[in-house]
Amino acid sequence: MTYKTLHTKLFGTNIKISIYHNNPDPILSTCEMLLTYYHKLLSFYDDESIISKINQNAGIKSIQVDDETFKLIQSGKLHSLEEKSNLNICLGPLVKLWDIGFDSAKVPSDGKLNQALKHTDPNNLILDKYTNNVYLSKKGMSINLGAIAKGFIADALLTYLKEQGIISAIIDLGGNILTHGFNLKSPTLNWRIGLQNPLEKRGIHLTTLELNDLSIVTSGVYERKSIVNGNAYHHIINPKTGRPLNTNMLSLSIISKESLNADIYSTMYFGIPFDEIELASKDKGFDAIAIYKGNILRYTKGCRKFRRDEC
Ligand code: AMP
Ligand code: MG
Repeated sequence: MTYKTLHTKLFGTNIKISIYHNNPDPILSTCEMLLTYYHKLLSFYDDESIISKINQNAGIKSIQVDDETFKLIQSGKLHSLEEKSNLNICLGPLVKLWDIGFDSAKVPSDGKLNQALKHTDPNNLILDKYTNNVYLSKKGMSINLGAIAKGFIADALLTYLKEQGIISAIIDLGGNILTHGFNLKSPTLNWRIGLQNPLEKRGIHLTTLELNDLSIVTSGVYERKSIVNGNAYHHIINPKTGRPLNTNMLSLSIISKESLNADIYSTMYFGIPFDEIELASKDKGFDAIAIYKGNILRYTKGCRKFRRDEC
C-alpha cells in the first residue's frame, strides 16, 4: 500500500489528488475522467456545457438539468439571496465584462457596469424542483458557478473515492482542499495545509494548519487578477457595485466538513467584517481564517485545534 498522486491542470489551476491504495492507477484515471466530466458540465466558458445552455436560453426557455446540477444551482441561489452575502451566482454578465485573469481583461465603463448589474438579480433565476428545470427569466442574464463548482466537484470525487474503499486521500483543486481520513505519512497523522502568503509567490506560506476529514477552501485576491492601465484588479466582484470588492481582506479560508459549503462561504463572506464572519461561523458550523493587508491574521475560536503555532 502506498500513496499515489494524480497531477493535472483544469479550471486554470493545478490539481493534485493523492490516494492510499494497493492499485491506485484505475481509481486515479476515473478521477481524471470525473474532473473532465464535471468541467464540461459546469463550465461558463464551454459553449456546450449545461450552464452555457441555460445562459444561451435566458429569456427564451427553461433547461432541464440532472439532480446534482439542480441541487448545486439551488444551493447557489439560496446563498446568493442571503442577507449580507457577497456571493451571487448570477454575476455572469459582470464576470464576462471584466474578464479578469484573461488577456482580454478590461475596466468596463460605468454605463456598461450599470447595464450589466440590471441582469444579476438571483430572484430571476427560476427553479422548478419537480422537473429540475432552470430558467433565467430575463434576456442578458447568465449564471457563473466559478465560486462554488470546485467545492462541489471535490465532494463528488470524495464520494467516489469512499465508494472505492479508500481510507486516506487528499484532493487539492487549487486553493480548494478536501482531506479524507488520516495522513499515514505524517507522525501526527494530520494533513498539513499551508496558508498562502497573499503577497508572495505561490507556495510561500504565512502559517500552517493541521486537519483531517475536513475541507479548507480559500478565496483570495491573488488567485486571479489582471493589471489594466497599471492598476491591479482582482476577481471577486461586489454584487452591489459590479466592481472588484474594495476590502483590506486579502484572503479568506473556510474550514468545514463539506467542500461545497467551504467554497460557498469563502466567497459569500469575502470582504465582510470578521466579527460578522465569526457570528455566522457559530450559526452555520464552520471555522475561518482571514488574512488582511499587513499580513494581519484573524481566526475564529474553533481554529485553535488546527493551529500548531501559539494561539
Ligand atoms: P472563489 O475563488 O470561490 O471566491 O470564486 C471566484 C470566482 O467566481 C471568480 O473567478 C468569478 O468567476 C466568480 N465570481 C466573482 N465574483 C463573484 C461573486 N461575488 N459571487 C459569485 N461568483 C463570483
Ligand atoms: Mg468560493
